[in-house]
Amino acid sequence: MRSPHPPLAGGPTGADALRPLLDTVLDALRGGAADRDGPFPAGGPEDVAAGVRQALGEVFPERGAGAAEALHRIVHAVARGSADPADPRCAAHLHTPPLALATAADLAASALNPSLDSWDQAPAASALEAAVTAVLAAVVYPGAPAPDLLVTTGGTESNQLALLLAREHHAHRPHRPGPAPLQVVCGAAAHHSVRRAAWLLGLPEPFAVPGTGGGLDPAALDGALTELPGPHLVVATAGTTDTGQVDPLADLADLCAHHRAQLHVDAAYGGGLIFSDRHRALVDGLDRADSVSLDLHKMGWQPVAAGLFAVADRERLAPLALTADYLNAPDDTGAGLPDLLGRSLRTTRRPDILKVAVTLAALGREGLARLVDDSVNTARSFADRVAAHPRMELWDRPALTTVLFRPIGADDGQIAAIRRTLLTEGRCVLGRARADGRLWLKATLLNPHTTPEDLDRLIDLVEGSTPR
Ligand SMILES: *Cc1c(COP(=O)(O)O)cnc(C)c1O
Repeated sequence: MRSPHPPLAGGPTGADALRPLLDTVLDALRGGAADRDGPFPAGGPEDVAAGVRQALGEVFPERGAGAAEALHRIVHAVARGSADPADPRCAAHLHTPPLALATAADLAASALNPSLDSWDQAPAASALEAAVTAVLAAVVYPGAPAPDLLVTTGGTESNQLALLLAREHHAHRPHRPGPAPLQVVCGAAAHHSVRRAAWLLGLPEPFAVPGTGGGLDPAALDGALTELPGPHLVVATAGTTDTGQVDPLADLADLCAHHRAQLHVDAAYGGGLIFSDRHRALVDGLDRADSVSLDLHKMGWQPVAAGLFAVADRERLAPLALTADYLNAPDDTGAGLPDLLGRSLRTTRRPDILKVAVTLAALGREGLARLVDDSVNTARSFADRVAAHPRMELWDRPALTTVLFRPIGADDGQIAAIRRTLLTEGRCVLGRARADGRLWLKATLLNPHTTPEDLDRLIDLVEGSTPR
């Protein structure tokens, strides 16, 4: 006798099938976190991998172990061996602790499994995406007559779209004929995905404008746009990955207008500031860009992925239009079925908008702003503590939520070793960044529950690992 097939997540009985499995998952998550007992698994890559292999046992056995056993064993092992951004001592990257409510919503996305490449696979989810993206487009571009916004996997995909659409926009402008390829111009600290996107799209190597701290300096950009043959796409950054610096967007927008250059702002990190009355001014001019990248899996507290790509004018998205008879036949579209294929370069696509919609509805603009404001405050408070500490050096006041610091007297090799020691001991997770020719420890503070005591503890941990 063959055993029956495993139950499905959907249908009238799907929720009942899920409930005991979810209990198993939640128990394994709780147990794994308790066994790890800290922000990071101790022991280094060999120990972690050995633990995972042991829990896995036979990866693909002839006879399966069954749902409860496999779920518990593997989820527990991954939880125990995870870097946990919900622990205040896990502060290396733009690795946001996701909100429980967004994570719960993400479960519904998996259970319902709508795919946003055609309306007949996602009737409600596509309507939800249309409604929410329209509102978010207007938040990024208040007052623009026809803004639009796509959901992406993150800044990398958004930046790729930005370069692709800038290339196509240039190609389709009749008053700019000629074979000259689009020249991307950015700051030295622009995200590596900009360079990769240019490579992928067959564009010339982006020109990195020299400037202090890798930011886009308006005077230097003016010189570059005057000298370099166009057409140009300027890529500014609102929140660099290493230091959180924000380029002077309004000045750059003036320059782009003057030189007739297109402007994309990579606000993957800093875009979240637009939700905050207190900090919005720092990204003044964002809405003058032709396009904007913004990651809600950073300053939006969503589980990965929740990337957004906004354009000032929806006409810019026209090159993405595509017809595939099985997904959006012209007669179906003519009969009123929404045509979704031009909303992404992907085909099958998860409804990442579901968790975003739930978060916006649950927290409101005010609630989201409070998360942003408190994170900025936490970073400032951490910088104050570093600055006041007799044995610590602060690189600069944080623009967003990134603080670079180092023990006074330590050399670059020691800084790198401190980071690795804390990591392999599982005591804390800090990043590293090079600034002004020196290596620094980097704390990226995005945990709204972090307390002043947690910040003191971070500094104590670094001090305790510093060689005397
Ligand atoms: C994180 C980041 C990216 C890359 O985004 P992903 O979501 O990792 O693809 C691009 N640019 C900046 C400024 C970033 O901080």
